[in-house]
Amino acid sequence: MKKSDIIKLNIEKTASDGRGIGYIDGKICFVHGTLEGETVEAQIYTVHKSYITAGVTKILSSSPLRQESYCSVSDTCGGCPLSHIKYEKQLVIKRQHVVDTLTRIGGIENAESIVADTIGMEIPARYRNKMVFPIGQKDSGAIGGFYAPRSHDVVGLSDCRVGEDCAIKALTTVVNFMNEYHIPAYNERTHKGYIRRVFVRCGYHSRDLMIVISSYNEKIKNLDKLINTLKNTDFGTYNLKSIVLNVNSAKNNLVLGNKNITLWGEDSICDSILGLQFNISPHSFFQVNPTQTERLYGKALELAELDDTKTVLDIYCGIGTISLCAAKSTKKVVGVEIVDAAIEDAKKNAKANGLKNTEFFCGAAEDIVPTLIKKGECPDVVIIDPPRKGSDEKTLSAILTAAPERIVYVSCNPATLARDAKFLTEGGYKMTYATPVDMFPNSEHIECVAKFERN
Ligand code: SAH
Repeated sequence: MKKSDIIKLNIEKTASDGRGIGYIDGKICFVHGTLEGETVEAQIYTVHKSYITAGVTKILSSSPLRQESYCSVSDTCGGCPLSHIKYEKQLVIKRQHVVDTLTRIGGIENAESIVADTIGMEIPARYRNKMVFPIGQKDSGAIGGFYAPRSHDVVGLSDCRVGEDCAIKALTTVVNFMNEYHIPAYNERTHKGYIRRVFVRCGYHSRDLMIVISSYNEKIKNLDKLINTLKNTDFGTYNLKSIVLNVNSAKNNLVLGNKNITLWGEDSICDSILGLQFNISPHSFFQVNPTQTERLYGKALELAELDDTKTVLDIYCGIGTISLCAAKSTKKVVGVEIVDAAIEDAKKNAKANGLKNTEFFCGAAEDIVPTLIKKGECPDVVIIDPPRKGSDEKTLSAILTAAPERIVYVSCNPATLARDAKFLTEGGYKMTYATPVDMFPNSEHIECVAKFERN
């Protein structure tokens, strides 16, 4: 068997990344765009020692779990690898992945009974409040859209089912301006040109809209024309509040550079979560699925069982979203976060919401948390919401020393949740409940919230 060969196989399982799994001559084969119960014809992409990857060329018998034509560019984009699967089944696949990972990596024997059903969306589309579109240059002019899988070739886009219409409108307006005034896109190879990305952020409750234009070179001609056009564009139910030029003159591939110049309007926009107001600037981390964020935080707070006698330590607190939601119904919250600007935002957000029972510390959790605990900080409840790589032994050991009644763990990566769960379990805690919350329908990403209780 070699690259480009056509094979026929039965798909027996569906992996959590949306690929079907079958066997060919006893070797495991991952086939893009297929699902369990189907018989397919596929073309081999790669042959490895222990597995093969392939892409479907023909579906010979299709599964009733298949959903047709969710999006016209899903084959070339790759951003929604589960989009060929009916939503109810996506939720089942995500839960099963959490159960399997907690069992295999976390050693949690009763995972099947403690993991609840995935909390899904009613309408799993147009959910993102932040869209980042790379800009590329073709002979025909500038185009904006997305990177083709495993490349930096920009594929043009006229719609995207995960974003709001206003995002596409902003993208189209900027690209049209570039073509009208002959402003070339930034070229990654020659390091010439201007615009690298169009970054759009909107407030679900506030209906505020922010458009950030990221450019290699800040001296873009005729920017006043672009500002005028954007100001006169109809963004539907959204109101344009801010146009920012972000300068990224580095030869890196970061989404944004460090320098922001407000071209028009405010430096930041607002949105609310569970009735609290948050200021969001271009660099702030803010959950991207607003309706599911309220469910995720609501579940985390329910599991935290707070009352006005409890002290909470919120580790990896970002701009203080969970901290402030917790502060409404508890005695005191201490937040820890590594990004300086996020801590400044957290303090401002606390003040703007009139919450005086919060304290925020800036620094790495692995340094700050052990110090706080040594100094006598004694949380009743710890909430942790680390990045994908999970927490670390220094932070977790300090939590074990503090011995809170409960730990609520919000995770965007089941594998690191499971690894950290093992550490906490060996340290005298028991995972008593977990639930996936679908923050990213049609994608392979899985968010999860888990509760640990002291033995
Ligand atoms: N709880 C917040 C943010 C979660 S994202 C929310 O829901 O919005 C994870 C956060 O961890 C990010 O803000 C990131 O800056 C922060 N972070 C990453 N590594 C860290 C570390 N070593 N110590 C403290 N914070 C860290």
